[in-house]
Amino acid sequence: MTIHQQLLADLVEFAPDAMLIVDASGRILYANQRVTHVFGYERDEIVDRSVDMLLPERLRPKHAHHRRNFAEDPRTRPMGAGLDLLGRRADGSEFPVEISLSPLRDGLAAAAIRDVSDRKRVEQELINAREAADQAREEADRANLSKSRFLATASHDLRQPLQALAMLHGTLCRVDMHPNGREVLAQQGHAIDSMKRLLSALLDISKLESGAISPQPTDFPIHQLFELLSAEFSPAARSKGLTLVVEPTQLCTHTDQSLLEQLLRNLISNAIKYTRAGAVTLRATPIASGVRIEICDTGVGIPTDQLAYIFDEFFQVGVARNTTREGYGLGLAIVQRIAKLLGLRIHVQSEPGKGSAFTLELPRAETSKSDWPMDASASGNHLARPAQSGKILVTEDEPSVLLATRLLLELEGYQVISASNREEALQRGCEHPDIDLLISDYHLQEDQTGLNVISGVRQQLARNIPAILVTGDTSSAMRKLPGDRQLRLASKPIDAEELLTLMDELLHTPDALRPAERLP
Ligand code: ADP
Repeated sequence: MTIHQQLLADLVEFAPDAMLIVDASGRILYANQRVTHVFGYERDEIVDRSVDMLLPERLRPKHAHHRRNFAEDPRTRPMGAGLDLLGRRADGSEFPVEISLSPLRDGLAAAAIRDVSDRKRVEQELINAREAADQAREEADRANLSKSRFLATASHDLRQPLQALAMLHGTLCRVDMHPNGREVLAQQGHAIDSMKRLLSALLDISKLESGAISPQPTDFPIHQLFELLSAEFSPAARSKGLTLVVEPTQLCTHTDQSLLEQLLRNLISNAIKYTRAGAVTLRATPIASGVRIEICDTGVGIPTDQLAYIFDEFFQVGVARNTTREGYGLGLAIVQRIAKLLGLRIHVQSEPGKGSAFTLELPRAETSKSDWPMDASASGNHLARPAQSGKILVTEDEPSVLLATRLLLELEGYQVISASNREEALQRGCEHPDIDLLISDYHLQEDQTGLNVISGVRQQLARNIPAILVTGDTSSAMRKLPGDRQLRLASKPIDAEELLTLMDELLHTPDALRPAERLP
């Protein structure tokens, strides 16, 4: 044997894979050293025997078939050709293998066999780990969903007693009493306001998380939104000695208007809250990908190491959990959820002692079809309201809310007719055809809605009676209500002042002067 031939023989003999030469009938003519290591047979135990002995018994008939196929079409078959193959050791144990086949001359074939137990084990471990992670994620999603459901139910159920409490408080405020009593009432008012804010933040979070809100994007000019927000926040800024700068803009955007409004409201409210002196600026600038809206302040700023947490629920910079200060640490959590829902990128830059800038990137629209009028928000002190008159039909299925509303309205001088469902409302309509205004809860029992009540009574009396629909449901379904100048939506829990102001507007503003309704 020449040195060349010797090297070649060694190459096969000491190859890292088990190697066999097999004839067309499946008889093993040659096995290298590695075969002993992989299959546990001595070489003379397998040479001259059928290659089938290296396979699990149940697979042998199939193997004969493969062998015939190979004999008819002898081509090189690489390893790992997508087949899950098994080998059988001398002790009967089975293990996964990869086999490559090469045709030699005279119908012989060379097979290289690799034990892939270790690789398969790692693959299986990876699959198991992925399945465990998927399962953990599913469990977390389920837990999150049930948390959202719990939040939604709890906050929804809390709204009724809170509504009653707000009405009773409003009623008490109208009763003559000792100054000490007034002081207690004022504190009670703060507590109710604070509960209302927390409740609506929790409701916002749960609605956003449960997927109950689906955005309704439209094209609209940004300045309309800016003007609305400026009117809303200027008094608060002024009372802190801050300037609220709203830069004029001609830009239009395409997104859900009321969700963007809510998002900006939270950012502006924070900017004012966390600024002691200077200005809060609202501006829109064109960028390549659309429009950038910035809310900048000259406030306390946020330390860099806290920036990553400010969007977390209940996180407040410098406030340990379970301790309190103004706010609940939910504002930015809501901002982030809305931004996600609208597919908007939000970015924050801040320097302690200098101020913060929150930026949002929005799609740009060239023109705007929408031209909604400004909200004619009536504010001011209505405690000294002159005595009112008018016949009001109140439909509400929650007795405590019905009673509280009646007490409030009667104290104001209104005559109140109560009903707890549609049938009763229609009955009262028959008895009192001179009703001036309808107030109805939206969700009534047995799937009745306040809309059915309002339209039913209006039809029955053949008049477009002014009406207020009180609802906690500000979902998109509600936003699709038809425009109706005689119909106002009031969000639950509505307080006494808001309700009385709305009633005043509907009862005393001639229809033609009334602003077109902009539903929430
Ligand atoms: P909060 O109800 O406390 O305002 P947010 O979720 O709105 O809750 O904000 C979380 C925290 O981020 C706040 O407690 C505050 O510390 C910080 N923060 C938010 N906006 C600003 C801002 N414009 N300037 C400084 N700090 C801010």
